[in-house]
Amino acid sequence: MWFWTLASLGLAGFLDLVAGVFFVHLLSLYFGHPLLWWQYAIGAALGASPDIDLLYAFFKKNLGGHHEYLTHRPIIGIPLAIIIGWFLGGAFWATAALIGVFWHYLHDTEGFLCLYDNGGLAWFWPFSKEYWGVRDFRVVSRMPEVHTRKEEDVFDNVYKVYLIPTRQAITEFLLTGIFFGYVIGDTLGVHISVAATYVFWVGVAALWIVYHCRSTQR
Ligand SMILES: [Zn+2]
Repeated sequence: MWFWTLASLGLAGFLDLVAGVFFVHLLSLYFGHPLLWWQYAIGAALGASPDIDLLYAFFKKNLGGHHEYLTHRPIIGIPLAIIIGWFLGGAFWATAALIGVFWHYLHDTEGFLCLYDNGGLAWFWPFSKEYWGVRDFRVVSRMPEVHTRKEEDVFDNVYKVYLIPTRQAITEFLLTGIFFGYVIGDTLGVHISVAATYVFWVGVAALWIVYHCRSTQR
């Protein structure tokens, strides 16, 4: 159903958006350059920017294989982000773009934060097609899976990861809470930060409960 698709995709992308906000906030402190709300929005977009290929993948009916597009090739994506950031906003936005997309690629790497549902990433493409990651504290690589699954199955996987309190979901949402709690605390005050983090967790718990009740009723 569209609501659960949107909710699960939203939850899947939330950490990247919030991480983007967190990093531009830290950079604004470093550069002594206070930001306006829309500049935080640009930070959020930077954290999620490589996933712009999901739009293309959606039309190509190849959502599961979107890590194979140029936007998920770090050797292309990182310099491109720096150049665009530099032309549009100088040193500040070049650094913000670098950190935003670098974070995104780390998050897509298998084994990042000891999580394994990240899809994997070909860090060294075009020199190697393999997805590099970490498992049991060792660097590992593998060939990407060939995606022949139907679109519903791809959504099914997102449902299973984020609409249920899995280790992946809990770790990512804890980090999300820390990132946005920090930024809100620094800009709007500790009380609003605690309240916002509380509302976030109540919202997540409510989604998990409703989704659980709905799936057990079927
Ligand atoms: Zn991605």
